Amino acid sequence: MRWTCTLIPTMKETPVEAEAKSHVLLLRAGMIRKLGSGTYSYLPLGQRVLNKIVAIVRREMDRSGALEILMPALWPVEIMAESGRLEVFGEDLFRFKDRHGREGVLAPTHEEVVTALVRDNVSSYRQLPLNLYQIQTKFRDEVRPRFGPLRTREFIMKDAYSFHLEQVSLEQTYQEMFRAYCRVFKQCGLDYVVVEAESGAMGGALSQEFMVPSAIGDDLYVECAACGYAANVERADVAPPPPACLKGDCELKVVATPGATTIEQVSRLLNVRPEQMIKTLIYRADGRPVAALVRGDHELNEGKLARALSTPGVEPADAQTIESVTGAPVGFAGPVGLKGVEIIADHAVMHVEDAVTGANQADAHLVGVVPGRDFGADRIEDIRTAADGDPCPRCRRVMKLSHGLEVGHLFQLGTKYSEAVGATCLDAEGRARPYVMGCYGIGVNRIAAAVVERFADENGIVWPPAIAPYEVVVIPLDMSEQKIVAAAESAYGMLLRAGVDAILDDRSERPGVKFHDADLIGFPLRVVVGKGFLNTGQLELQVRRDERRAFLRPEELAQRTQELLAQLHASAPAPAGENPSQRGK
Ligand SMILES: [Zn+2]
Repeated sequence: MRWTCTLIPTMKETPVEAEAKSHVLLLRAGMIRKLGSGTYSYLPLGQRVLNKIVAIVRREMDRSGALEILMPALWPVEIMAESGRLEVFGEDLFRFKDRHGREGVLAPTHEEVVTALVRDNVSSYRQLPLNLYQIQTKFRDEVRPRFGPLRTREFIMKDAYSFHLEQVSLEQTYQEMFRAYCRVFKQCGLDYVVVEAESGAMGGALSQEFMVPSAIGDDLYVECAACGYAANVERADVAPPPPACLKGDCELKVVATPGATTIEQVSRLLNVRPEQMIKTLIYRADGRPVAALVRGDHELNEGKLARALSTPGVEPADAQTIESVTGAPVGFAGPVGLKGVEIIADHAVMHVEDAVTGANQADAHLVGVVPGRDFGADRIEDIRTAADGDPCPRCRRVMKLSHGLEVGHLFQLGTKYSEAVGATCLDAEGRARPYVMGCYGIGVNRIAAAVVERFADENGIVWPPAIAPYEVVVIPLDMSEQKIVAAAESAYGMLLRAGVDAILDDRSERPGVKFHDADLIGFPLRVVVGKGFLNTGQLELQVRRDERRAFLRPEELAQRTQELLAQLHASAPAPAGENPSQRGK
């Protein structure tokens, strides 16, 4: 490609609306442009990056035995009503009416459609396992699209869905997908952490996420450097502390706390730290109220609470229920004297000496509360969200909290969707059984943005060769000098013939502008033809990543370029192992 024949509208200024590094650089490098809230156009260079990522994903999916299909993004609303996901997605779902007044949705993911497709076209266990995937646009009406292409309302995903008769077959395909994902991210040059993820209301099912560490990542995970345990904070277990041994000699007293209903307000009013307080949260589980206790500085984890209660889900009780359970308005609940409701406490609660809690009466709290002495819990469980510094559930060493960008997700679905849409197949005995399913997603645009977040310096993007818009830029520094132009043309031609993906910067621009744009866009290699060529007959080959440079004769160029590209590719961060729960670096 010749620079003057393509469209690369680079920008000098940093766009004001862009917060994230990837957003700024992709805009400035002329690779993307915003259309509306959370929607972006990909210009020629940006589209080349996406195409290369898609090619890697497609190759690895095909290699794993998955079959590519394409399903519509436009659905009749009924198919989501059937599975119950209208409520699950709620406002995140794009809904509309067509000209005939029929309601439709734009697909957020494709579980329902693919399950119905298999229900109607597969009948025997002999056709299993079956893994179907597509690379297609998804839509989610994010409350707050942000960070440019990292969190958008329209995005490209690779989503795969596998169908099995038995759990053991699902587990095999799941491992196959895991290995394919490791290969995909390794080839894209990304380092990642595989974290255990929340499996939601399905219970017990395995789910893992591929996270790229990033300060602006909207996912939080904890990681234990000692044993390698890593989990999304939503999912992470916390090692229980040793049994509490409290002195219990403080005096239990009621104190007035008019209008102070939050941890922050009470903490300020009584001058106590949040970790000395006990939060009492009234929830509804299976139609009955329960009281969940967590320390003032901890967050209750609804998924863990639901699992502890062996129920699909819990929801915060309404004000009326809270008043009838505690006898006090919202904000003054406490475990002391609480009757007729199951009390489930987090481990840490039982260690708070001289605690502060609500007094179950308006405008009052209790101080000097001693767990065990003043109240008992029916059950003591791990029901809080993990935090930085918590003990590892496997080895009890300290875990570190990090932000990550989720680029891939593996999920054992079980029979949730096959039961919802009545998708069964006949086993060897001729019995109809619901399909056991898995689903596997990769965010294509997110890979591009995550790579920019991870690999950029003060001058611009540093693309790994495999997904760079072009591998090499050939830069003639003086377009008015015939010998320089001819040498650059010749170098460009040699690279193309050698199968190198090259672009020739044939603009009549100053050298400074050409170098600036080459750095900003982040081509892995630059071939520079300057004044020196006229004297020495040598070209300069420069590496974007580490600014290495070497002079060489034109006839050496193709081979040296291929060697350097292979070297850059091999030295990209690589997964440590292709095992679940292992960290890739
Ligand atoms: Zn550990």
